[in-house]
Amino acid sequence: MSEQQEHERRNHHAEEAERVVEAMKSRRASGLSATEAEERLTLHGRNELPAPRRRSALQRFLLQFHNVLIYVLIVAGIITFLLGHWIDSGVIFGVVVINAVIGFLQEGKAEQALDAIRRMLSLNAQVLRDGRRREVPAEELVPGDIVFLASGDKVPADLRLIDVRSLRVEEAALTGESVPVEKAVEPVAEDASLGDRACMAYSGTLVAYGQAAGVVVGTGANTEIGRISEMLSQVEEITTPLLKQLAVFGRWLTLAILGVAAIMLAYGLLVQSLSFDEVFLASVGLAVAAIPEGLPAIMTITLAIGVQRMARRNAIIRRLPSVEALGSVTVICSDKTGTLTRNEMTVQRVVTADDRFGVTGVGYAPHGAFERLAPPATADGSVLVEALFGRELAGTSAEQDSGRPAGEVDQQNEPVLLEAGRAVLLCNDASIECKGEEWQLRGDPTEGALITVAMKAGFDPDFESESLPRADVIPFESEHRFMATLHHDHRGRALIYLKGAPERIIEMCATQRGRHGAEDLNPTYWHGVMDEIAAEGMRLLAVAVRVEDAAGKSLVFDDVERGGFELLALFGLSDPPRVEAIEAVARCRSAGIRVKMITGDHVATATAIGIQLGLGEKVRAMTGAEVEKLDDDALREAVAEVDIFARASPEHKLRLVTALQARGEVVAMTGDGVNDAPALKRADVGVAMGNKGTEAAKEASEMVLADDNFASIAAAVEEGRTVYDNLKKSIAFILPTNVGQAGIVFFAIIFGMTLPITPAQILWVNMITAVTLALALAFEKPERNIMRRMPRAPADPLLSRFLMWRVVFVGLLLVVGGMLFFLWELERGSSLEVARTAAVNALLIGELFYLFNVRSFTEPVLNREGITGNPYVLGAIALLLLAQALFTYLPAMQLLFGTAGLDVVTWLRIIGFGIIVLVVVELEKVIVRKAALAAEARITS
Ligand code: ADP
Ligand code: MG
Repeated sequence: MSEQQEHERRNHHAEEAERVVEAMKSRRASGLSATEAEERLTLHGRNELPAPRRRSALQRFLLQFHNVLIYVLIVAGIITFLLGHWIDSGVIFGVVVINAVIGFLQEGKAEQALDAIRRMLSLNAQVLRDGRRREVPAEELVPGDIVFLASGDKVPADLRLIDVRSLRVEEAALTGESVPVEKAVEPVAEDASLGDRACMAYSGTLVAYGQAAGVVVGTGANTEIGRISEMLSQVEEITTPLLKQLAVFGRWLTLAILGVAAIMLAYGLLVQSLSFDEVFLASVGLAVAAIPEGLPAIMTITLAIGVQRMARRNAIIRRLPSVEALGSVTVICSDKTGTLTRNEMTVQRVVTADDRFGVTGVGYAPHGAFERLAPPATADGSVLVEALFGRELAGTSAEQDSGRPAGEVDQQNEPVLLEAGRAVLLCNDASIECKGEEWQLRGDPTEGALITVAMKAGFDPDFESESLPRADVIPFESEHRFMATLHHDHRGRALIYLKGAPERIIEMCATQRGRHGAEDLNPTYWHGVMDEIAAEGMRLLAVAVRVEDAAGKSLVFDDVERGGFELLALFGLSDPPRVEAIEAVARCRSAGIRVKMITGDHVATATAIGIQLGLGEKVRAMTGAEVEKLDDDALREAVAEVDIFARASPEHKLRLVTALQARGEVVAMTGDGVNDAPALKRADVGVAMGNKGTEAAKEASEMVLADDNFASIAAAVEEGRTVYDNLKKSIAFILPTNVGQAGIVFFAIIFGMTLPITPAQILWVNMITAVTLALALAFEKPERNIMRRMPRAPADPLLSRFLMWRVVFVGLLLVVGGMLFFLWELERGSSLEVARTAAVNALLIGELFYLFNVRSFTEPVLNREGITGNPYVLGAIALLLLAQALFTYLPAMQLLFGTAGLDVVTWLRIIGFGIIVLVVVELEKVIVRKAALAAEARITS
């Protein structure tokens, strides 16, 4: 029995936390050592669930036959066989099998590709090893590891909690209970059910709130979720609403075709009084000609290729149907910090009650100095400036509007600046490190920038945290927009440092720190400073302190909100927009997609950034507080006009999505926190951040951005549109073949002619076009104007009127071609075999040239890009030509399909016909582009 199984029998939830740590042979303060962890990993295996149950290969293969189309073919094959047409029936069965094999292989490939993409979303865990907190892939966790949890995390293994700070866990994945459960360290009764074991956190559940540490007691299949995973794992299907619709359409089409075939059978027998044998074969021919056998497989593969392409552009699709939704997105609601901006923060301003300082230096390197700035004097601000700073000061800076350097200062003479520096250094969870030449950040960029500025002021982070050790912390959450830390000094006093959004901090302050100590808070002054810094597009942060004589041990939310703080300073951090984001916003706007910014930042900062990004001609902003005042109807009006929602909390996002959707918009919404999950779920395409996003956000979303970059959303939209286009192109390509062949058979029956193409030949044409030519369209690149047309209305049918016209038009061209060559050859006195071979080749060569036309719906293709733009097209053509050479000249094929060799003249004529098809469709495009249809085509195709 392994060590783990032995512990498994223990009731961890009924034991004291210390005892469990001991039993797992771990140490609470330092965790396992790297070598111990390695040994246990070999012993217990990786922390992975067994791969989800899949359909077996045989099952998947057999399922390929489960299709009305195939049933029709099988019945046709059997009757053909009974009628004694061995070869025809053999070919029909051959095609059925080949079709299944191809479907099977393609589906397998598509599944593999999607698996690979899913693996890109693997989980990391915060773990204590060798006394240091480290991040490791969750699969490498072993029993005994000490793991840290924070809100938004997915619990990476079964944990016995050893330290809990207001931890609430959502255990729906395990217990079905959707309300988060409060956790604690104390043991519970031995017979407590899973949902009542408050001192345990189970793998796969989500931390909704708070923080905790726990010791791993079970990994991989040895977790609670692992035990029931057999039950949970459902077979995931590679399908989307569109594909389902198409399948339904296919079934109706088949029934309709069968009906027509039956009528033809009756007509042939009764009106033309042909033999049953002959008419039946013709009806079978009609049915197989009209049914697009290859279409479903082509659709699946097109979708899978699209998803792969998106992954290459950093957009990882979690749920396939969203590919379609992406193509019709009309509004993207995006976070600001890190998504639209670079998230490389630099503190450029520090403002205290009496002074404003500029800070020099860029990046996280702590090299730079402080300069005293004169207060600004804008036209309407000068009065305020005069009032606050006296006449001389206001006068001297009249020629500048954003302050100017008035010389470097010695920060040692600036006690308020120093105290503010110490405060932001201590009320901070990030660290910066010098690696070689470069200074690297660990943690939140806002906080990193604050460490840098404190070091510029001469502080040493290690020294400060030793002299004022931290006793407790309330971590930053977008919801309440501040962070607080509690420190003890040597004299037994407690200091609470508070930093966060200035509006919030000022609310909690009673005084401000002046040159000579505490003085009354002057909110007017601070709000002026806020507007001034925010107008430059800088992010704002305020810092305050409260000193208490009795040193409490812990920090409670209510205690902080009680107020009574002393405001030290305001910091202005610059975070410029990403260059790619500016470009992507422009692309989205030309594609008829509105981009809206939702941010927790100050409204003026957000507006300044919004203008730089070019969100609108006239950027309009609204705050979360204003959103709250509106009722649903008013909000529905407002969302159309407003580009920026500032000081918005995650709760506002849900209302905004709902309001936008009520207007008929298709919404993509970004998010990263736990609280964003409801909005992400509600959005048509929820987009989670891959780097800074929590697991909770990722679980709730359709798509994950590997680089957190707005430009990747725009890229995904472009790919989504491309996928949809390519699906349409495959349809526009495949259906004319069916129309053409069915038309030929139809006329043959009507006029009582010998069939110009046999059922076996028809099947060959369908198969070979699907696996060569049509497949090439799945690799088609986006059209040039793809981001210049309006979004597709979600209700638009795949087969627009324009597309139907195109299918019928080209189908008729092929009917004429096939018939012409058949009759022509008979006229020349060629054999029936030769005439049929000529007809088949005319059809295929016609399709071959039509493939070039299809590459663009309405744009001309008779140019270099049109001919050589897609190498897959050229490869497919080479394959088709090879296949046709075999089909025409190989004796075995001749026997099987009743074909015969053609002479050069016939080939030249056939090629001539192909060129005619190409040119005629191009001419049609010219007319379409000019005619009124162009308007429709541009919108719907
Ligand atoms: P955004 O939507 O731009 O990412 P956030 O919700 O992250 O905005 O932040 C909102 C505000 O909270 C910021 O403008 C800043 O004033 C404050 N803030 C951000 N990060 C921290 C932090 N780590 N500690 C304290 N306050 C913060
Ligand atoms: Mg943020």
